[in-house]
Amino acid sequence: MIFRQLFDEDSYTYTYLLADALSREAIIIDPVNSRVESYLQLLKELGLTLVYVTDTHVHADHITGSGLLRDATGCKSLMSEQSGTRCASAYFNDNDVIQVGALRLQCLYTPGHTSDSYCFYEEKHGMLFTGDTLLIRGSGRTDFQSGSASSQYRSLQRLLSLPAKTVVYAGHDYKGWTMSTLAEEKQHNPRLQVADEAEYIELMNSLKLADPKMMDVAVPANQQCGKTQ
Ligand code: FE
Repeated sequence: MIFRQLFDEDSYTYTYLLADALSREAIIIDPVNSRVESYLQLLKELGLTLVYVTDTHVHADHITGSGLLRDATGCKSLMSEQSGTRCASAYFNDNDVIQVGALRLQCLYTPGHTSDSYCFYEEKHGMLFTGDTLLIRGSGRTDFQSGSASSQYRSLQRLLSLPAKTVVYAGHDYKGWTMSTLAEEKQHNPRLQVADEAEYIELMNSLKLADPKMMDVAVPANQQCGKTQ
């Protein structure tokens, strides 16, 4: 398996490239529009064919590169049924599997940060791409975009039911952490040290966060697969 964790320092976004080493087919998760040229260069240098591009949710803090990558490579863009978008090539739902050569990514519907948040689980290699549902020592805010602390608590419980050694690859990190495991998060993530759902809701409601600076631009653009006017 070929794997790259790519970083956008403007939005602190992690983008993931996964490919089947044998078939050379690849998928990119959460691409950033301003980085598309570098993804294309990397695909070329590694001799990979991009077959899919997808997003864990409609982002509020950066514009997706999915539309640009589809235009440049002819790959299929995937979004969730819950995203409400109409521009994607195809749509997935809870428990659907995205097959990339021999790689199988299971789509886990994990609403909370947004009502369309998904995680992608690669069981064979024990990798979990958590988007903004579970961050390293944190969790995605739930105070806009139909977010719900109650839903997120239940989504986090669902993730914690996966094997403890599962490696966590989050959608962002602001401190330079690159990866974790479910066991590590269960023990050390402050958002997971709550007794029950009510305590989690209280914790999330006590956060006083400013809106992301790109929100007014990014959300409408991302509903159009990253196409800006
Ligand atoms: Fe987000």
